Amino acid sequence: MLSQLPEQADPLRLCEQGKDFAGRVALRDFARLAPLLTSSEGEAAFTLGFDKDGEGRARIRGHVEAVLWLVCQRCMQPMRYPVNTDFLLSPVQGLGEAESLPPEFDPLLLEERSLHPVDLVEDELILAIPPAPLHPASECGLDVAAYSAPDDEDVAGSEKENPFAVLQQMKRDSD
Ligand SMILES: [Zn+2]
Repeated sequence: MLSQLPEQADPLRLCEQGKDFAGRVALRDFARLAPLLTSSEGEAAFTLGFDKDGEGRARIRGHVEAVLWLVCQRCMQPMRYPVNTDFLLSPVQGLGEAESLPPEFDPLLLEERSLHPVDLVEDELILAIPPAPLHPASECGLDVAAYSAPDDEDVAGSEKENPFAVLQQMKRDSD
């Protein structure tokens, strides 16, 4: 059953209760995320499901979708960055407990008993922002081949020649 997302809640209690939430939040209402965006137009759609897994471990299953506007670090122009991500958290009290989680879980370190559940959605959006956002090569305002540094080739999906292809060609030529 879907409930209204509370402003503040004890996540362990929500897991006990097996609460599910879904909603939309205007991006401009995310105080930490909004300054990272070139435009805070638009909204994020989320679901948050609190329950326990088969081993009685508190579990938060979430999904968030949004279109973020970032700045391309090559041409410094706005770029549209769709985010569509699932996450799986388990509330933990300390690092020891965090380390004992199965690998599919990300720890949610509880500093206090209660938190703002909507912060979980904002955290995921912030985590989804790449350290150096770049347009795909075909959409960038700058000529990728001329401007890309060797170490951003992977990120940019550059069309530079693959060194292995060159090696293969040389091998073929020498046959
Ligand atoms: Zn660009």
